[in-house]
Amino acid sequence: MTQTHPGVMPSLDPPVEEDPDLRKQLAAFLDQHTDDLIGFRRDLHMHPELGFTEFRTTERLVERLKEAGLEPRVLPKGTGVICDIGSEGGPTVALRADIDALPLPDEKDVPYASTIPGLSHACGHDVHTTVVLGAGLFLARQAALGLLPGRVRLLFQPAEENPGGALDILAAGGLVGVNRIFGLHCEPKFEVGQLGVRTGPITAACDKVYVKVNGPGGHTARPHLTADLVYALAKIVTELPAALSRRVDPRSSLSLVWGRMNAGSVANAIPDQGLAEGTVRCLDDEAWHRAPELMRSLLHSVAGAYDVEASLEYVRGVPPTVNDQVSVQMFKDAGDLVLETDKVVTAPQSLGGDDFGYYLESIPGAYGRLGVRTPGGPEYDLHRGDFDVDESCIPVGVKILVATVLTALCELPGSGVPTDLEDSRA
Ligand SMILES: [Zn+2]
Ligand SMILES: [Zn+2]
Repeated sequence: MTQTHPGVMPSLDPPVEEDPDLRKQLAAFLDQHTDDLIGFRRDLHMHPELGFTEFRTTERLVERLKEAGLEPRVLPKGTGVICDIGSEGGPTVALRADIDALPLPDEKDVPYASTIPGLSHACGHDVHTTVVLGAGLFLARQAALGLLPGRVRLLFQPAEENPGGALDILAAGGLVGVNRIFGLHCEPKFEVGQLGVRTGPITAACDKVYVKVNGPGGHTARPHLTADLVYALAKIVTELPAALSRRVDPRSSLSLVWGRMNAGSVANAIPDQGLAEGTVRCLDDEAWHRAPELMRSLLHSVAGAYDVEASLEYVRGVPPTVNDQVSVQMFKDAGDLVLETDKVVTAPQSLGGDDFGYYLESIPGAYGRLGVRTPGGPEYDLHRGDFDVDESCIPVGVKILVATVLTALCELPGSGVPTDLEDSRA
């Protein structure tokens, strides 16, 4: 092949023939490449790497992308990759995969079990990486044929579990020029072949709060001459969640729950310090942004009433992931096109977090759930040492992402949709 179109893939087998039906094109591609993609996943699975140390994973990705004629860019810290497919100028859709593993020992007895003691891909990020790579390889081939109605950006993000690798992608300009973004996460509750979608919040924010209270301390006989710190702390612990529930829209599901409180050592002495620690979960991005300031002002008014000094340390986790309705519809349309009938289902809201929420603060997009359970088989939970997937989810994920990208690109202005693609989506 002598074509110099961006995304040309000299090393991949040239397509047998141009077939106007996307489903047939995908089926032919996956017939040829599924075993290789499963091998790629197993290699990552055997060599899990924690956030910001994913050097080997990054190297493997760069190799594969370069082989396909693409020009991957490694992020400044040396892990994570951004890679564009297709020409600049048109609409751009991004696909995100997280590439990091967890500090959990692999308990599985399989030939592809982790070879690194204490580490495993127990959140399925090896699958996410493989699925986005597979979709990228197919789309690069489409680009080479002039069948990509815009540009696709692959985002292989480090350190999702840390969390915060999404911020590194943003800092590296990963979303510059991107109109929409999509990502899939393994869902062991759904069977292979199913896609879970949800409009609005799908994962929650989870922050940590640390309250410290100080007073002069003194004898319990004379609370009026000092500051009754234990009483004040008890008021703070009960009043703060109550006041928050009346100051924030209940639809945001913002909740402050304490996990620890501590003050004092004997029955007849008022202590001079105490603490309370808890978590804040929230499903609404605006409420999440307002939460620290609001909590600080409520804390000071409660503490002021009892003449104690109180300080709040508010440690941010990730924002909620709030799916855009139009993008969710694109996921659904894509699922309906490439999956069997009735396989697009509603995903439940999760109070777990994913730093995908950072992307959706800047541009519209959607985060979907990829079914990974063998029909009728056992359900392995995420973040457990025995977590595994039915690997037939890999071609399914590739199909969903390819169809979603093409759906999104075709609906963005200036896509210049080739007519045969329109036909294939009819
Ligand atoms: Zn996880
Ligand atoms: Zn995860």
